[in-house]
Amino acid sequence: MEFRADMHCHTTCSDGTLTPYEIVDLALNLGLSGLSITDHDTVEAYESVIEYAKEKGLELISGVEFSCLYRGKSIHILGYAFNTKNKDIKAYCLKHKERREKRFYAILELLARHDLPLTEEEVLQESHDGTIGRPHIALAMLKKGYIGSMEEAFKNYLGAGKKCFVPGEAFPVEETIRIIQNAGGVAVIAHPHLIKDSSTTKELLKMNFDGLEGYYSRFDKETNLRWVNVAKQKNWIITGGSDFHGAVKPHIPLGSSWVNKETFESLKHRYVQSQIR
Ligand code: AMP
Ligand code: ZN
Ligand code: FE
Ligand code: FE
Repeated sequence: MEFRADMHCHTTCSDGTLTPYEIVDLALNLGLSGLSITDHDTVEAYESVIEYAKEKGLELISGVEFSCLYRGKSIHILGYAFNTKNKDIKAYCLKHKERREKRFYAILELLARHDLPLTEEEVLQESHDGTIGRPHIALAMLKKGYIGSMEEAFKNYLGAGKKCFVPGEAFPVEETIRIIQNAGGVAVIAHPHLIKDSSTTKELLKMNFDGLEGYYSRFDKETNLRWVNVAKQKNWIITGGSDFHGAVKPHIPLGSSWVNKETFESLKHRYVQSQIR
């Protein structure tokens, strides 16, 4: 069977709905050979799942998706093949956790001011103890009947610049790249097509990234080719994955985008190296 490795998915450690174990099982059932779990701003999944994946025979390499702000715009950076026990990575995740908590309370305040009160518990019920994100708030709003869909929550309240939007503390792109690379990993621009402002894209392409996400579940062929060409010109790694979130985004199946054996093996090599640093 063809080698496929999905390099972008989320578990209950952030805003996905499957546990790390369940995602490993699903990957194997779908015939995937490799996986990287890329939770938002946390590597908690790796505390439990590395041994499990090994037992079950799924190749797993470390991953994370860090949230950054660049000139006020949200940018996601994927990190791969770093040492998940690196103390600076751990400290950075903790700082993000604090940012998310502060932002969470600020959003609750704004929602209350717009006559959409939610208690802390109502949101935490949606979060499975992982990092708190806007999707959990959107789910609680949905349960309360404040909105008709998750999309609506983002479009009217939680999305960038909307009534109840709180950017939270800004994490710089350059710092994030450095932290990933210092932990032995590679830093990759996530879903570059979502960066709608071309001058931002231009600036990012000048930075010290190692790669970009050139395969993505919701790409058309033209978008895919465009980004693959950009990466080739820069001699960057081209990664790919589905951005699977489970039941909260049922239209995005695990394994709907992937990298081949060659790309996975080169990242795997790097991952093995990062473990002995
Ligand atoms: P946060 O990490 O708290 O900033 O929330 C961002 C996450 O919310 C993204 O990674 C997506 O998973 C999700 N998200 C963003 N926009 C939307 C949307 N329009 N509908 C549903 N989910 C969204
Ligand atoms: Zn997400
Ligand atoms: Fe993202
Ligand atoms: Fe993602």
